Amino acid sequence: MECKCGSEIIEKENFYECSGCKKKVWKEFFGRKFKESEIDYLFQGLTIYVDGLVSRKSGKKFSSGVKLNEKLELIFDEDKIKEAINVDKCKCGGIIRESQKTYFCSSCKAFVYKKMYSKTITRDIAVYVLQGDKVPIKDFKSKAGKTFEAILFIDEEGKPKIEFPVRG
Ligand SMILES: [Zn+2]
Ligand SMILES: [Zn+2]
Repeated sequence: MECKCGSEIIEKENFYECSGCKKKVWKEFFGRKFKESEIDYLFQGLTIYVDGLVSRKSGKKFSSGVKLNEKLELIFDEDKIKEAINVDKCKCGGIIRESQKTYFCSSCKAFVYKKMYSKTITRDIAVYVLQGDKVPIKDFKSKAGKTFEAILFIDEEGKPKIEFPVRG
């Protein structure tokens, strides 16, 4: 990874630091761990859209634009939220947001439940699925309590569906 100033970014225990301009990005911000690609964008001086941030006051989750400011601090940047880079975009280009029970695209309204067949669908899985991938899940559970494997995907209407893998 390289900083906007052209110097190399060094990974430390709790943060990343530019070896040149000494800009620093904490690995965790309001209870949310940054992905490597997000760290990259922050060091490029760009605003990224992140959700899953946790309020220190209420403990509630929220989303915001985040960037590094001139004082080399991470700040919320609501003004630029529309042009913010979101690493996790839906295949339509829309921003993936989070509701209580779903991950959904704010433009085309495609969604995935956070829990399906007793299996917690992680944000990463949801992102893959909303990007049009078919994701095999090994440990779904039927109502009878039987574990089964199926492939999770989004149909043409933007709804989550499962299909069974072809046994070869
Ligand atoms: Zn730098
Ligand atoms: Zn979409």
